[in-house]
Amino acid sequence: MKRVLTELLNLPDVVVESSLQEGETLILSVTKKTKSAVCPQCGKKSDHLHQNQNYLIKNLPMGDKEVILNINRRRFKCKKCRKTFNEELDFVGARKKHTHRYAENIVKQLIHSDVSNVAKNNGLSDEEVYSMLEDIVKNLLPINVSNLVRLGIDEISLVKGQGKFIVVLVDIDTGKLIGLVKERKQADIENVMRKWGEVVLELREEVSMDMTLHSTWKNGAALLLRFWVSRDISF
Ligand SMILES: [Zn+2]
Repeated sequence: MKRVLTELLNLPDVVVESSLQEGETLILSVTKKTKSAVCPQCGKKSDHLHQNQNYLIKNLPMGDKEVILNINRRRFKCKKCRKTFNEELDFVGARKKHTHRYAENIVKQLIHSDVSNVAKNNGLSDEEVYSMLEDIVKNLLPINVSNLVRLGIDEISLVKGQGKFIVVLVDIDTGKLIGLVKERKQADIENVMRKWGEVVLELREEVSMDMTLHSTWKNGAALLLRFWVSRDISF
């Protein structure tokens, strides 16, 4: 059972040690397979465990069950620096209460919805949803589009009726978010285009655009679209 859950969870180097079901919630206690961590100060590997620090974070649901991970962000002691440090976990940010996957899923739900609705549907506050969005904006760039074939352009309404939008770029084939553009003015979009010159050259087949885009975005998105399709980087 533990092996099946580990496979289902599918987080690199993470093993499910035990599970506990409480009503609609499944709590999985997980550990990292690796016995050491790299000191952020000097880069030396340490296997000197200083302290176990367990806490709970939200992950994507499995079936109809909400999944909570009981994780251990271990504290190691570096023999060279003689200082202690927290190990890096690649599936959850420092001081975050949810996995990166969870946040990505929430942000995807924002497409064609808005912050308040998504917050309500997931039992989160508006601030929590917005902060996930901000984190994803920060962490997505620079975008990696080496395998991108078809690009989807969509939008997220931050607050319904207030005209606050974010444009979302999605890899249509994998369903992955590959970029978010916060700026709304056409000049800002052009700046983004200049920045993404290399990205544009990678695009091979098709760009699809949701035609329900907010009017402010229509010109910009159309421009972006033409730019991508024509691969013309002369400004
Ligand atoms: Zn060190």
